[in-house]
Amino acid sequence: MTESTELPFFGHIIDGKEVESDNAERFDTVNPWTREPWARVALGGRPEAELAIAAARRAFDEGPWPKLGFTERERLLGRLADLMEEHADELGQADSRDMGKPLAQCRNDVARAAWNFRFFAQHAKVSTAETLPMDSGHHAYTRFEPAGVVVAIAPWNFPLMLETWKVAPALAWGNTVVLKPAEDTPTSATIMARLALEAGLPPGVFNVVHGYGPNSAGSALTEDPRVNRITFTGESGTGKIIGKAAMDNLIPVSLELGGKNPNIVFADADLDNAVSWSIQSIFRNAGQVCLSGSRLYVQREIHDEFVTRFVAAAEAMRFGDPLDPETEFGPLASQEHFEKVRGYVETIESEGGTIATGGLGDGWFVKPTIVVGMPRDAKHVQEEIFGPVVVVEPFDTEDEVVALANNSEYGLDAQLFTENVHRAHRVAAQLQVGTVWVNCYFVRDLRAPFGGTKRSGIGREGGNFSREFFTEPKAVILQIDEQ
Ligand code: NAD
Repeated sequence: MTESTELPFFGHIIDGKEVESDNAERFDTVNPWTREPWARVALGGRPEAELAIAAARRAFDEGPWPKLGFTERERLLGRLADLMEEHADELGQADSRDMGKPLAQCRNDVARAAWNFRFFAQHAKVSTAETLPMDSGHHAYTRFEPAGVVVAIAPWNFPLMLETWKVAPALAWGNTVVLKPAEDTPTSATIMARLALEAGLPPGVFNVVHGYGPNSAGSALTEDPRVNRITFTGESGTGKIIGKAAMDNLIPVSLELGGKNPNIVFADADLDNAVSWSIQSIFRNAGQVCLSGSRLYVQREIHDEFVTRFVAAAEAMRFGDPLDPETEFGPLASQEHFEKVRGYVETIESEGGTIATGGLGDGWFVKPTIVVGMPRDAKHVQEEIFGPVVVVEPFDTEDEVVALANNSEYGLDAQLFTENVHRAHRVAAQLQVGTVWVNCYFVRDLRAPFGGTKRSGIGREGGNFSREFFTEPKAVILQIDEQ
């Protein structure tokens, strides 16, 4: 037996069973800390995608799930949330090993993933719909009916948590699901689907197919006319391809894409608070966050002091083995991604910037990197690096910084730090983004809309926004008055 056959195995979950691919192909998932494979995963393609869609179709068309009732679905999804909490270590370690994210952050993601199931199951149950007494003696009401088979395609940066933003509302509203996790972070999805079966979800309701994106399981899932909804989170370029595939079959699609987010610090900000959130914003998860504040604008009066404190805080971050509970900062998620970020780091100086701190580390580490003096048209200011690299620029006036912030093809989120409440509202209203955080970052209420403008996406997730996407609203109009 070779060493790699002894690694733990993670299969597809199709129609209630954990299975290999038809051709028994597998791929390794590599731990970015050791740079060694730690698990083997079934490698799916079109046949597995088609089998999973057929199972989900059957479970929707014939199965009890869409008709179960909100209370029973809430009970089963609540049971799944309980099991995820009981298996928080296993799930957290799976994500941490797959992508090098510190275990403490992965455990936090598991807690949020479990909460996603509880929240959306309850939200669906208590959700109300408009009724309209009509002048004509008729009465109209709205039914939110499950859309059918949902394909969910996820990225690798918050594997379990982002998958559950899609899977939880889709299931809560009575749909069946085929999830394709990212190929770099496949294992927690299989564990979650095993737990879903243990919780009592009927076969075919929640399926997981592993594989790559283009010309593989991913594209097969997006090209299948038996699907009713496609929900995707990932790069803007991939979003365009998936959007086109969805439109070929006129399937509604939701796209949560990239970001190059402005973080604005005004001179009147509470500096300790601004430094601390700015560190979280760009260096949490080694900057591999769509919401990262990767363009930092600091008002000139405090620019130098802010940068001094920001550099000191970045240099104090503890990096090391992601499975060590003390680690705050891990390696990048894969060699391919490290090479991409390295390309940006190595060109900082040739493009006119100065590294205030940071640069390349050992293995697949990039240190928390703070760049000053970068010209505004440099790729480091315009493009999503998706790593721990932030460009800092001074500004003078509110109008100037609003224009700078909006000068991006992305529009996911923005952060602003000020003690002036009037300015906070005024600036928040002018920023062309989906979310603005004032004096904080990364705080989320699942009832609020989440998503981006411009190249950051199409559609919103959360509360009623998820309901509208995962259901078909139907108007029913009755005659009430006798004719
Ligand atoms: P990616 O687009 O490379 O891959 C995402 C998923 O799409 C993977 O599962 C991949 O296998 C699949 N895929 C790739 N090509 C496909 C195709 N042609 N057809 C079907 N599926 C395909 O993105 P990534 O590198 O995994 O994730 C990082 C990106 O995700 C960043 O741009 C980041 O900003 C973005 N992101 C956005 C949000 C958000 O909420 N807006 C959240 C997290 C990450």
